[in-house]
Amino acid sequence: MRRAMVAGNWKMNGTGASVAELIGSLRAQELPASVEVAVFPSCLHICQVLKAVDGAGFAVGAQDCAAQNGFGALTGEVSADQLVESGCEWVLVGHSERRLILGETDEVVSQKFSAAQAGGLKPVLCLGETLEERQAGKTLEVVGRQLAKVIDDHGIAAFDSAVIAYEPVWAIGSGLTASPQQAQEVHAAIREQLSRLDRRVAEGVRLLYGGSVKAENAAELFAMADIDGGLVGGASLKADEFGAICRAAGN
Ligand code: PEP
Repeated sequence: MRRAMVAGNWKMNGTGASVAELIGSLRAQELPASVEVAVFPSCLHICQVLKAVDGAGFAVGAQDCAAQNGFGALTGEVSADQLVESGCEWVLVGHSERRLILGETDEVVSQKFSAAQAGGLKPVLCLGETLEERQAGKTLEVVGRQLAKVIDDHGIAAFDSAVIAYEPVWAIGSGLTASPQQAQEVHAAIREQLSRLDRRVAEGVRLLYGGSVKAENAAELFAMADIDGGLVGGASLKADEFGAICRAAGN
C-alpha cells in the first residue's frame, strides 16, 4: 500500500512575512495523518519554514540542488549536503521550469538526482511533455526518455527512495488540468516502465500528478489507480485550498 503524498511547490514566491502567515495558516489546517505532506519554499525561506513547522507534521524540501556534492567553490549553488544539514528531507529535481527556462538537460537532471541521494535527500523527479509534444503524439516517448535517463544512470533500485511527479508542461500554472484518464494513462506507463525492470520497486514508488491541481479537481485525480497524490504549485500558496487537496488525498 503506497502512502499518499501532497507536495506544495511555492516556487519563487514569498516574503518573510507572507511565509510566516502561510505556515501559520497551514498549521491550523486539519491534515489527514495518512497523507505525507511536504512544502518546498524558496531556498531563502527554508530555515524559517523548518523553524515554524517545528514538528507539526510537514516535511520540508528544496526546489533544486546542485549537481555537485559537498561544500566548496561553486558560487550561487546549494548542495544536497547543505540542505540536509539545514533539516530538509526532499528536493524537486527536473521541474519543467528548470528544464525549459533554465536549460536543464536530461543529463543535468540525472546528475542532480544522484547528488540529491548521495547527500541524503529524497528526490521528487519531475517528468512531463510540452503541448507540442502531446499534440504530436509523443507524450509517452518523452516521459519515457526522461525517466530512462535516470534509470540507466543510477539503476532501478534508486527509485526505492524517490518519488516521481508527472507534470504535463501545458497544465502547469495554466489552469488546464490533464483529465484523470490522461494522467492515469501516463502514470500507468511510468509504472510499467519501472515494472519491466523490478516489479517490487514499481509497485512501491509513489507517482504524483502535477498541473493545476485544485481542491475542486483533486479528488477525481487521486481516485485513479496509479495517482498517489499531487505536486501542487499555485494552489499550495493558499492554506485552505492546499489543506482541502491534502484531505482529498486522504480519502
Ligand atoms: C508545479 O509547478 O509544480 C505545478 C504543478 O504548478 P501549478 O499547480 O500551479 O500548475
